[in-house]
Amino acid sequence: MKLFGILLLLLACARADEARLRVSSFSTILTEIVREVGGGKVEVTGHVKPGVDPHEFTPTAADLKIVSSSDIILVSARHLEGYVGKLREASGGKAALLEVGDQLPGAADDPHWWHSVANIERATGIVRDELSRLRPGLRAEFSAKAAAYTDRLESLAKWVRVKVAELPRDRRKLVTNHDSFGYFAREFGFTVHPIAGLTQNDQPGSKKVAQIIATIRAQGVKAIFSEDIENPKVIEQITRETGAKIGGKLFSDGLGAEPNDTVEAMFRHNVTKIVEALK
Ligand SMILES: [Zn+2]
Repeated sequence: MKLFGILLLLLACARADEARLRVSSFSTILTEIVREVGGGKVEVTGHVKPGVDPHEFTPTAADLKIVSSSDIILVSARHLEGYVGKLREASGGKAALLEVGDQLPGAADDPHWWHSVANIERATGIVRDELSRLRPGLRAEFSAKAAAYTDRLESLAKWVRVKVAELPRDRRKLVTNHDSFGYFAREFGFTVHPIAGLTQNDQPGSKKVAQIIATIRAQGVKAIFSEDIENPKVIEQITRETGAKIGGKLFSDGLGAEPNDTVEAMFRHNVTKIVEALK
């Protein structure tokens, strides 16, 4: 009798486990979203860890092994993951591959869509719909969780707007190392002057540096932002020749390491740094 009870329990556990969707995520933002929406019904592997540069990441054999048994693969898309073909191959068509960024509005050549809160809300809807498609019986649960998370994002966006309002309009100018704050600028009313290109490796020539220096002087920009990584020599030259100070590190390419490993912490950190430095 006792043995029978244990067997039943094991069977119940196996069933519950079978119901959990296995998710492989290659974006720190999407990892948070799918954990929020999926709760206990998903088993998520975040292959790109907070604090890691997604422009530089390539999946290892161990990553691909996990992908091969996943139900869903999440990527930022917009050309960020040059290795997406490898994921497709590893999965052999068994998983739903969600190229989330490609379903969002805006220019297709800038991958940094997560600096728009509205885009994170849209991505939440995309993830909710996919989980519901694969587990129709759990649709109500996923919808409720997505709605609760979206409410928190709305409060966050409200906080950003209040904080940005502390800055006079003519001070809302962002000089960053690589071109990653375009979506943020459009959503919250800034202009951006990136020093490098869309990836960290895309480094500027002396002509570009001279242009940036002229812009900073002409517009009276008080600070520039070096983000978490990068070209200290160019930054140093610019600050020396313009008198602008370094406004601190911004999290540009996804969530930072603990304790900045949440969407909310990323925005609060970035926006506080930006507003305090440009005031
Ligand atoms: Zn980037």
